[in-house]
Amino acid sequence: MPFASGSSVTARAGVRRLIREVADFAFASECAGCGAPGAALCPGCEAALVPCPVRTHVGGVALCAGLAFEGVQASVLRAIKEDGQTSLIRPLRPALAAAVDVLREEAGAARRIDVVVPVPTSRAAFRRRGFRVPDLLARSTGIPVLRALVPTRRIRDQRGLDERERHRNVADALLADRAGGGAVALVVDDVITTGATCAEAARALRAAGFVVLGAAAVAATPRHGSGRPWGVGGTRRSILADLAGDPHDTQMNSG
Ligand SMILES: [Zn+2]
Repeated sequence: MPFASGSSVTARAGVRRLIREVADFAFASECAGCGAPGAALCPGCEAALVPCPVRTHVGGVALCAGLAFEGVQASVLRAIKEDGQTSLIRPLRPALAAAVDVLREEAGAARRIDVVVPVPTSRAAFRRRGFRVPDLLARSTGIPVLRALVPTRRIRDQRGLDERERHRNVADALLADRAGGGAVALVVDDVITTGATCAEAARALRAAGFVVLGAAAVAATPRHGSGRPWGVGGTRRSILADLAGDPHDTQMNSG
């Protein structure tokens, strides 16, 4: 695979993180989902992470998330992003895998995915956390990861912007830094709110010659006011009605 990458330095860093994650998970003092004393995730909250894929599309891009961004699911994602509990990526893997499977099946059973491309996160978020959530998630898919997207300009914080403003905010904000040459790519993000960022990521990849299967995420925010995730129950409603109430906490992506 021409895109596969890695070095002994990243390998060592990976081993160190793995050891820390195992220790964090085993010796955590409380559950990230409900606060009950004990492990990083109690059995009840782990059960809340059983995938229930929600599917929609925006701007010609298929989107799928493994869970609704609410309750335990939202608490676990926040624990990763705000408290740095990267050990909790592991119990979220099935949700992302389910979303990937939905998109792959739609494209035809034999459809291959050459690379997963994480949505880029702001430099400020990376400095604060020391890791990029979409990258860790992308790695968990077992598909070669290609960090091909770079921001072309500063993006305003997406929080507080409505759907139209979000699309305008990220329009032409990303660039693929290499030619796709027809490689089949899947965009990966942690949480989909309006889909504006994923749609922009897909646009940039297609412009560079990638074939984009869609975008997969761990969770998607419920439709504003309805309390239900978009696309649930087989309806493929546009998420253009999704407004505000946004989990994203940085310029473009909380990553
Ligand atoms: Zn719990």
